[in-house]
Amino acid sequence: MASMTELVHDPVFSKPKALLSGVRGVQIVDFDRIDECCGFGGTFSVTEEAVAAKMGYDKLAFMQKASPDCIVSSDMSCLMHLQGCALRQKQDSISPYRRDLERSITMSPVNQARNAEAFLEDTVHEERLDKLLWLLRMRRDAAARQVPEWEELRTLASDIKEHTLTNLSDYLIEFEAQATANGVTVHWARDAHEHNQIVCDLLAERQISTLVKSKSMLTEECELRPFLETRNIRVTETDLGERIQQLDDQPPSHIVGPSIHKTTKDVANLFAKKYGSDPNNEDAAYLAGVMRENTRPEILNARAGMTGANFLIADTGGVIVATNEGNAELSAHTPSLHIVSAGIEKLVPNMESLAVFIRLLARSATGEAITQYTSTFRGPREGAAMHVILVDNGRSSRLGMERFWHSLKCIRCAACMNTCPVYRRSGGLSYGSTYMGPIGIIMMPTFDVRKYSELPFASILNGSCTNVCPVKIDIHEQIYGWREVMEEKGQIQTVKKQAMKIADKVLSNPTLYQIATTSMSTALDVLPHFAIYNRLNAWGKHRDVPEAASETFHEWYNNHRLKANEVLGL
Ligand code: SF4
Repeated sequence: MASMTELVHDPVFSKPKALLSGVRGVQIVDFDRIDECCGFGGTFSVTEEAVAAKMGYDKLAFMQKASPDCIVSSDMSCLMHLQGCALRQKQDSISPYRRDLERSITMSPVNQARNAEAFLEDTVHEERLDKLLWLLRMRRDAAARQVPEWEELRTLASDIKEHTLTNLSDYLIEFEAQATANGVTVHWARDAHEHNQIVCDLLAERQISTLVKSKSMLTEECELRPFLETRNIRVTETDLGERIQQLDDQPPSHIVGPSIHKTTKDVANLFAKKYGSDPNNEDAAYLAGVMRENTRPEILNARAGMTGANFLIADTGGVIVATNEGNAELSAHTPSLHIVSAGIEKLVPNMESLAVFIRLLARSATGEAITQYTSTFRGPREGAAMHVILVDNGRSSRLGMERFWHSLKCIRCAACMNTCPVYRRSGGLSYGSTYMGPIGIIMMPTFDVRKYSELPFASILNGSCTNVCPVKIDIHEQIYGWREVMEEKGQIQTVKKQAMKIADKVLSNPTLYQIATTSMSTALDVLPHFAIYNRLNAWGKHRDVPEAASETFHEWYNNHRLKANEVLGL
């Protein structure tokens, strides 16, 4: 056989390269984004057909640049997917994966797939988000390579979290005692309502009707802002991205960059509408200036400020907040009342353990060595007050879930979101939830199984999220675990359930598999076009079903594999 270039599609769970290393004259070229699937896996390419098609077309674009002699995967369905995309592309050179899109406004349970389709229609935003997030993933990889002990740090961080969560009640009591000794008032909130009421009462006692607030996913989780606003308290977000989302009446779409899905043009238009600034000036420095001019007076006049907490230090009672804008420091230091909202899982034992997380956090999030501002708040300033609200809101129950408690180790770096091929092409708002992307998929069902029953299927299970997680959460295993829970709780759509039952029978039985593939190939030859391409065939919306090859891979491999004497060099 002549020399041949093979492009290897190598999802985490398959090792075709090892197999091919025993074939003469083969030069192997990896796909870019090697740990990203083409999006075919299981029922994904049907239930999330728009996202899956986009992933397939992105792979195809790389293939066209690399121009290999053939592509190889251990999974025949991946090849079928890519071939299907290639066939459709020949017929339709204009965004084939966007044809015949249908939208649904059904939001209960959240229909992430339909929301993702809507996002994919907007090519400008979708392509920008994908590129930007992948750049963050690349920067994270580069930053990790600069730290020789990176993997040891990840293991250590995971172990520290495991130890702290295992002894959580002790560390919580220690934190409370230390913080109280520092002059901080510590409150305990069982749920979101208690948390919101505590904040409301603290403000009411002082007759405060305005609050400045730095970014905090926990306050989003508790829906604090609407709670306060309906009680005539004006809340001003001080984080640029969060403020943009507030002005646009949207929740955050990313846990680190709340408005990461927006372009500077979007922001210029929004600020022009809300602040009367120049809609044609998209310069980022100008826009930051507009935000500063309009938010600083609010901060300077505020009598109460709120921050979240990245970490709580048990043995000092300290609260650690990391930001890139310094807005948390302004929110905490300027007013005379500082309220901290912190989930109980934020505890670490001491400053020594904190150092491990600080080294991992920014590198995982943005590829920077450290966030611009990492502050420790230990107690109130003279004449001021500091309150810390320790919030449970379902965390204790999650801690008791044998399979899912690991998600409490999360330090909210968003690396799993940046690397997730589904998130990058769907946008965070498509998840319809406070936490989105892989971490959202494993957290949100703990709040509401029914509402978020579809989220565990918004994943290709390629394990990229697990690979990058700085605290080694087995994210893709947990996503799979949640699928099993949905099945046990009867939350899987009947069509999907039946399809999986049939697939299980066929794929686990070689004879049935042979019969199915042969009859499918015959059916494709004889069935009329409308019988194959119709509303029932979501897969066919964006791809053409390829013709069956004249020679199977097994036949080809048997003809070309090295003989035993050749392997031994005899
Ligand atoms: S699950 Fe891991 S990667 Fe994802 S946000 Fe949390 S710590 Fe970061």
